[in-house]
Amino acid sequence: MKKICILGSGYSGLFCAANLLVDYENREKYEISIFDQKPYHQLLQQIHLVSANIKKPREISFSIYDLMKDDVKFYNELVLGVNFDKQNIFTANNKEYSFDYVIIALGSSNAFFGIKGAKEYSQSFRSLDDAIQLQKKLQNLKDCNIIICGGGATGISLAGALSETSKENLNIIIVEAQSDILPGWNPKLVDEIKKFLRRKKINLITNNPIKEVYPSSVLLGDGTTLKNSLSIWTAGVKGRDIQTIPLIKKTRSNRIIVNKLSLIEGYNNAFAVGDISAFPLPNGQTSPQLAQFAVRQAMNIAKNILRKEKGEKMVEFHYEQHGSILSLGKSCIGMINGIIISGSLCQYVEDFLIDNYIKTIKNRGRGISSLAYEQDKLSQISSSLNFMITTAAKILSSN
Ligand SMILES: Cc1cc2nc3c(=O)[nH]c(=O)nc-3n(C[C@H](O)[C@H](O)[C@H](O)COP(=O)(O)OP(=O)(O)OC[C@H]3O[C@@H](n4cnc5c(N)ncnc54)[C@H](O)[C@@H]3O)c2cc1C
Repeated sequence: MKKICILGSGYSGLFCAANLLVDYENREKYEISIFDQKPYHQLLQQIHLVSANIKKPREISFSIYDLMKDDVKFYNELVLGVNFDKQNIFTANNKEYSFDYVIIALGSSNAFFGIKGAKEYSQSFRSLDDAIQLQKKLQNLKDCNIIICGGGATGISLAGALSETSKENLNIIIVEAQSDILPGWNPKLVDEIKKFLRRKKINLITNNPIKEVYPSSVLLGDGTTLKNSLSIWTAGVKGRDIQTIPLIKKTRSNRIIVNKLSLIEGYNNAFAVGDISAFPLPNGQTSPQLAQFAVRQAMNIAKNILRKEKGEKMVEFHYEQHGSILSLGKSCIGMINGIIISGSLCQYVEDFLIDNYIKTIKNRGRGISSLAYEQDKLSQISSSLNFMITTAAKILSSN
C-alpha cells in the first residue's frame, strides 16, 4: 500500500485527495492522509460575505470528516516540516508520519513588506476566523474610515460587500500602491468594477503606498494621514512557512519552486501545489495565487500519481484561464471568454462554480461536475450544458 500524505485541506489539498479517489475501486492500494490545523474546509472566496453579514460561517465551511468520510485519514494537526530524505513529515504534537508521496498544499499567509505597524495594527483578512473577527469589530464602529489596504481582488470584494451593509456612517477607502487596482486583470473588466465602486461611494486612492499603520490611523506615502480608521490588510501574500530537510528552492515571496509536473527539484515523489507553489507559466511568470489555478494543478498531480503507479508517464500541467469573477457582496461582475457578465447571470455562474467544486469533491473526481476542470473542448461544452440545465432547474424551482 502506497502512503500519500497531503499537507493542508484547502482548495488544492482536498481536490487532490478527491481526484486520487477517482480510481475508487482500487482505493485499498493507497493510504491517503490529510493534515490540517483546522478540522474544516473554508471557502475563502466567500469570507467577505461573512464580514458583511450576508452569509453565516456555516454556509461557507465544511467539516473535513463529512466531506471525505472514511476514504482518507484526517489528522487535525499543525505540520512543522518535511524530511524529504527520510520520507517523513513531523508535526507540533511531536509525531512523525512516513510517506511514499508528499503533497505540500499549505497555502499562503499575509506579507507585510516590512511596513511598520501593518502586522500589529491592521485586521488580517485571510481566513474565516479573520472574517468573523472583522464582523464583530464592525458591529461596534461608528463614524469611522475603513481603510482597505490593497486594491487586489480580496480588497475590492471586501469593499463591495461592506458597502452593502446598512451602516451609512462608515467611509470605505481602498488604498493601492500601484497606479491602478486589480493589476493583471482585463482593463474593460477593471473599468466596470470601478464604475461599481463609484456608485457605492467607495473611495479609491491609487499610486500612494501605505507607509505606516497606527492603532487608529494610517500614514500614506504622500504624507496624508487617514485618521479615525480601522485598517484591514489585503495588500500582499507569501507562501506559508514550513521547515524542509534538506532546504529546497523558494522564491523571494517564500513560494516553493516546482517544475511543470509540480515536482520539487531533486524529487520524484514530492509535490507543492496551490498558493505555496511557484509553477512556471509559458510567459515566464509564476502561477497566479487563485483557487481556480490551485484545483486544476491539484487534479493534474493526482492523475500523475495514479499514472506513475500504473507504470505510465506523468503529463505536464497546462493552464488556461477562461474567465474571472469578482463577488462584490450581493453584486457580482465578471468576464467569461472576453464577455463581461454581471447581475443574476454572474451570480448564477459564481453559485454554479462553487456547487460544482463541492460536488466534484463529494463525487471523488468523477461524474459531470469534474468536466469543468478538464481543458479539452468536449468537456468544456458538456460543462456549459450542465451549467445551463442546473441553472434553468434552479430558476424554475425558485418561481
Ligand atoms: C479573501 C479571499 C478571497 C479570495 N477570492 C478568490 C476568488 O474569488 N477566486 C479565486 O480563484 N481565488 C480566490 N482567492 C484565492 C484562493 O482562496 C487561494 O488561491 C486558494 O485558497 C489556494 O488554495 P491552497 O490549497 O493553496 O491554500 P488554502 O486554500 O489556503 O489551504 C491551505 C490549508 O493549509 C492549512 N495549513 C496552513 N498551514 C498549516 C500547517 N502548518 N499545518 C497544518 N495545516 C496548515 C490551512 O488551515 C488551510 O486549510 C481568495 C483568497 C482570499 C483570502
